[in-house]
Amino acid sequence: MRLENKRVLITGAASGIGLACAQVMVSHGARVIGSDIDGLALAAVADEAGMAEALPLDVANERDWAAAAAKVSRMFGGLDALVHSAGIGVGGDLTTLPLESWRRQQAINLDGAFLAIKHMLPLLREGGGGGSITLIASVTGIRGSAVFAPYAASKAGVIALARSSAQASAAAGDGVRVNAIAPGVIATPIFGRMEGVDAAASDPVATAARLVPLGRVGQPEDIAYAAVYLASDEAAYVTGIVLPVDGGLLMR
Ligand code: NAD
Repeated sequence: MRLENKRVLITGAASGIGLACAQVMVSHGARVIGSDIDGLALAAVADEAGMAEALPLDVANERDWAAAAAKVSRMFGGLDALVHSAGIGVGGDLTTLPLESWRRQQAINLDGAFLAIKHMLPLLREGGGGGSITLIASVTGIRGSAVFAPYAASKAGVIALARSSAQASAAAGDGVRVNAIAPGVIATPIFGRMEGVDAAASDPVATAARLVPLGRVGQPEDIAYAAVYLASDEAAYVTGIVLPVDGGLLMR
């Protein structure tokens, strides 16, 4: 029960890493509001995952965030942790990539992370100390990616946002810690949803399985366990870090 009674909002909670975070955090005693743009998919998993509430939310839409803040405030009277996992992956050749595709990538991954912090930080501050924000970034935000440049750029921005927000919170002394997790290749439905590349042809999961030093692709729970740690009081002295959870990919 490492998160006993902690009030947690998770974005992208209908699938993959966000869903695993919800399941594992609930099993550690957290009260979780799960949110996702796909309200139907979220409703289908919310009960079984033990979510206290299923909240449809488009992370790129500021009105949705304002409504979410009001809801969290009504339900919980504040927030102890935010896990921001919602995201999409856009790839392709930069010389032919439509500007619209680039903007869609940044709107969801980078604007989304900004809006998450903008609207949830005040609720985390109300907790009076010990609040935690964890942004799900990516190893591509550290090392870049030939195939997924728009995605890698968005995740580099997410990492800079996490570090900057951590520094601002520390300077303000508001007690909120901000960290990022950089997953490697994790087996989730995201690979079937990639835009601008033929994931079936490039088969990133099979490629990764060959490249990962630990010899396997990651599972969503591998990321969820790291998210539990960062949201818990055990991480009270940890802020501004980017934690790779990648089976050793960054060592290569
Ligand atoms: P996923 O596709 O299984 O889950 C992503 C969820 O985000 C989906 O439920 C989707 O509906 C939701 N979503 C998409 N756009 C949204 C929006 N505008 N507003 C709200 N919700 C939205 O993918 P995943 O692998 O679980 O990815 C979760 C996070 O982890 C993403 O930020 C992704 O970039 C990151 N990540 C994943 C991997 C990996 O290998 N799977 C690696 C590195 C980083």
